[in-house]
Amino acid sequence: MTIDEVKDALAGYDGRELTLMEVCGSHTRAIAEYGIPGILSPKIRLLSGPGCPVCVTPSSYIDRLLEIGRQPGHVITTFGDLMRVPGSDSSLSEAKSEGVRVDMVYSPMQVVTMAAEEPEKTFVFAAVGFETTIPVYAALVDCIIKKDIRNIRLLLSLKTMPKVIAHLMEGGAAIDGFLAPGHVSVVTGANAFRPLAETYGIPFVVGGFEAKELLLAIYDLVRLQGQGVVKNDYPSVVTAEGNPAASELCDTYFTPADALWRGMGTIPGSGLLLKKEYRRLDMGSDALLSDHKKNAACICGQVLMGKKLPGECPLFAKACTPEHPQGACMVSGEGSCRAYFVYQR
Ligand code: SF4
Repeated sequence: MTIDEVKDALAGYDGRELTLMEVCGSHTRAIAEYGIPGILSPKIRLLSGPGCPVCVTPSSYIDRLLEIGRQPGHVITTFGDLMRVPGSDSSLSEAKSEGVRVDMVYSPMQVVTMAAEEPEKTFVFAAVGFETTIPVYAALVDCIIKKDIRNIRLLLSLKTMPKVIAHLMEGGAAIDGFLAPGHVSVVTGANAFRPLAETYGIPFVVGGFEAKELLLAIYDLVRLQGQGVVKNDYPSVVTAEGNPAASELCDTYFTPADALWRGMGTIPGSGLLLKKEYRRLDMGSDALLSDHKKNAACICGQVLMGKKLPGECPLFAKACTPEHPQGACMVSGEGSCRAYFVYQR
């Protein structure tokens, strides 16, 4: 089938109404950027789920980072996309302008060099992410342990994808199929979604990030509706079994734990913490129990669960913009509200 035939089939679809969800921030951005919803029949509805790691990080995580950063001799190190995520009262960006030392990095391993250059300081790395980035954090822990580095610690907000999908489905989400996350699947393998597909009787299709790849994956989701199967439409990058070496490295240092998701509550077993024997490297990741909204009217949680669209939020494009985000979904380029604001408004 040519891509034009796929487009025509999706535009002309006249079967039962379908709701499909993507659970990957890069998919969210790509779908918005390519204007994919505008190509589809009105009977195919695309929703953005909890696939942006920054968006699902609770306010207590930011609060704890700020608390640590205000302690003498401590340096917070983080990827740039966490900088403007609101905590209860402030963000890392605001704290930095007030004198808290927050250094942005492009790779966790940069922290090793920084820590060697300033041995009198304690560097705390903000490790936020899904299965995609967890192996990189495991490599950092591996390096700290093997080199016996004494001045690097971590604050974790690590989450795993299958558990949150199960949580959505158990909560009654009327989803007819999932665009399975391309990057996560590189590590987990496409087969990680098979139990979910079989339990809920819906298809999971692993898709790439180009317009053609997205359309093909959506076409397969439509074609496979009602079937509890997994299809890998991204075989150049994703295998059935994933990356066993990366999974093994993660299993060496991390263990499953309950995790608090911003706006969604605690989901049992959906996160990872350092194993007890390595917990000395941790700065309190197991005590992040609260989640306060910066703005009470923010509906980030409902957006993340696919219950509402960003445009249904009363603050969208008014009090809440990329320049003045009121919720995490407007901060990251992979956030639903930000993608909707930039491309679909
Ligand atoms: S538009 Fe802003 S305030 Fe509304 S849900 Fe999105 S992030 Fe929250």
